[in-house]
Amino acid sequence: MPKNRFQALAESRNRDHKSINESGRRSDLFGKHVFNEEKMLQFLTNEAFDKVKSAIFQGTKIDRKIADQVAEGMKAWALSMGATHYTHWFQPLTGATAEKHDAFFDILPNGKAMEKFGGAQLVQQEPDASSFPSGGIRNTFEARGYTAWDPTSPAFVYKTTLCIPTIFVAYTGEALDNKAPLLRALHAVDQAATAVAQYFDKNVRKVHATLGWEQEYFLVDKALINSRLDISVTGRTLVGSFSAKGQQLDDHYFGVIPPRVLAFMSELEKECTQLGIPVKTRHNEVAPNQFELAPVFEEANLSVDHNLLLMDVMEEIADRHNFAVLFHEKPFAGINGSGKHNNWSLATDTGVNLLSPGSTPMKNLQFLTFFVNTIKAVDTYEELLRASIASASNDHRLGANEAPPPIISIFIGEQLNDVLDELEGVSKGKLSPEEKTELKLNVVGKIPEILLDNTDRNRTSPFAFTGNKFEMRGVGAKMNCAKPMTMLNTIMAKQLTDFKKEVDVLIDKKKLKKDEAVFNVLREYIKTSKRIRFEGDGYGIEWQEEARRRKLSFNKNTPEALQVITSKESVALFKEMDVMSEVELKAHQEVELGAYIFHIQIEGRILGEMVYNHIIPAAIKYQNLLLENIQGLKDVYGAAHKKVAESQLNILEQVGEHIFDIKKLTDEMADARKRANGMQLSNKKAQAYCNNVKPFFDKIREHSDALEKLIADEIWPLTKYREILFSK
Ligand code: ADP
Ligand code: MG
Repeated sequence: MPKNRFQALAESRNRDHKSINESGRRSDLFGKHVFNEEKMLQFLTNEAFDKVKSAIFQGTKIDRKIADQVAEGMKAWALSMGATHYTHWFQPLTGATAEKHDAFFDILPNGKAMEKFGGAQLVQQEPDASSFPSGGIRNTFEARGYTAWDPTSPAFVYKTTLCIPTIFVAYTGEALDNKAPLLRALHAVDQAATAVAQYFDKNVRKVHATLGWEQEYFLVDKALINSRLDISVTGRTLVGSFSAKGQQLDDHYFGVIPPRVLAFMSELEKECTQLGIPVKTRHNEVAPNQFELAPVFEEANLSVDHNLLLMDVMEEIADRHNFAVLFHEKPFAGINGSGKHNNWSLATDTGVNLLSPGSTPMKNLQFLTFFVNTIKAVDTYEELLRASIASASNDHRLGANEAPPPIISIFIGEQLNDVLDELEGVSKGKLSPEEKTELKLNVVGKIPEILLDNTDRNRTSPFAFTGNKFEMRGVGAKMNCAKPMTMLNTIMAKQLTDFKKEVDVLIDKKKLKKDEAVFNVLREYIKTSKRIRFEGDGYGIEWQEEARRRKLSFNKNTPEALQVITSKESVALFKEMDVMSEVELKAHQEVELGAYIFHIQIEGRILGEMVYNHIIPAAIKYQNLLLENIQGLKDVYGAAHKKVAESQLNILEQVGEHIFDIKKLTDEMADARKRANGMQLSNKKAQAYCNNVKPFFDKIREHSDALEKLIADEIWPLTKYREILFSK
């Protein structure tokens, strides 16, 4: 049962904050709970150590004998850390992470007890897969799923459990999770990017994608969150009148972090450090009670795991501090939502950031190659990139209050725009020595090593170049970054593969020099991808109109955005890059649609429950209060009471009208839900939920918010926006 509003308020006001203990050097704590290289050296045989290293860097397989050795070492270390259980930690298609704990402890046939954990337990497990969404892949009994060790992400001990990062796949080989496709996409981009990077440096053997996410979240007192059915169940407020004091003053952003929050952050950062998550910055965000946490960037697969782990740890530590952490992209209407910017780049094993301008013209040509190819990839596959950030909760954020619109465009800044404009004028075919010199000296050579940060002017572009990386800003705070990262790295792999082919043709058939061929192909890319480039601050833009003008897709909601995933082009792309089969794409789409339906369905039910059980009863209570007063006035004044009680009668009438309307709308919404539920195809059902059910939410909210303003404060049962947002 949700707590009463006034009890919750009293409880939240009486909290003390835990004292902060920030002693101890971060560097001593870093990775203490991770089975990293240092621990492997200590606990593994040389042979096992070498095999794990080559599995990480070359993707080689680990055989059973070695797996047994690794398991033995891992177990010894985990037991020394006080672990009693182990789990295969994985990323089902919906939700964040899942795990199934097993005890190390086992009884031998001779009745003796021992701690057992071998290669078999390390490498493969069979979770109770029936409870995870599979989009129909696992419909048959034979096609069960299993989890398999991902040696590229180190195991770690959290509390008393050894957690082993794993992929989750069906016995038929299809991915049932978000990690398996990500690993395939990272492999594809490695191959394609390495081939292109070798144009510039023959020593490059491997390219890995890097990811640095910026996690935004709200932190609110637990009692206040629990006092409202909507936030505690759906993660967002379905009703609530805007606070008189919103975020207009931006005073939170620059303010000091409140001590209770600081205590939470301090404990969180300590835990993250031990888990090897390199957290770096913490600060207030624009909205009240909103914060952000960002790490140093890492290899993308590891970074994704770290973000998921962080979200789990945050929820737990928040709870210890009597907070609830909200990752929903739009918990409060009219106030900034929460995103998770994905900073992305490509780095070589020789230590070069391929999206960083360099000190020589050659290095800059390499930079321009990867830079322009990224633009081209995003231009060609903008609709897929949009699909990768689609979710019911992110629908509320995209396009609202400072968040990027649901239309993909790229911001690169004036300096680089000028460079691309120049490159567009490069001659076709062979270049004269003068032109080459001119290009080297005045175009490519003029790109400063450190680009001025001119991105401050544009905070809402969905895809922005920020000096030495691209920043994908449409990603939602709640999302698994694996989804957009799989998409981005797949389209980049495809683009670089095509680029390599085109350049090679010019070199082999047209006898162009390498740099001439590169310039020629880049020129065409620059010409054909212009529509995706968007300069300006983005304010006051009519995005739908802009999308039409530029012939960019405009998918304003999740059911629309998800369609493209199974298009002919998409299926061909994912097949060619060996990232996902058609069956997997269909399954992933099905799961996303299912999640969307489920989300809106729950919101609808909760809203209905709140209307009938909280809002209408409060309105009636107030009505009775008014009636009692009016009756009293009538007793005293007789017929003259109409004048004396004019205001009360007016309010009484308004309350009555809102009760009538809100009940009618709620019943109509229930009917619309019933009709939607009758539909068989997920696609149709999701659209019905989106177009026929969801529109009732705002209409119902209007009446609830009007009632909230009318009704006596002491009668209103739902904790108010200002009480939630300005609690400290
Ligand atoms: P800020 O934007 O706060 O001034 P930075 O630009 O250094 O700071 O970094 C912002 C985010 O981008 C951080 O999370 C950081 O880890 C990430 N980042 C920086 N460089 C890269 C890179 N080469 N690849 C991926 N992410 C990066
Ligand atoms: Mg940033």
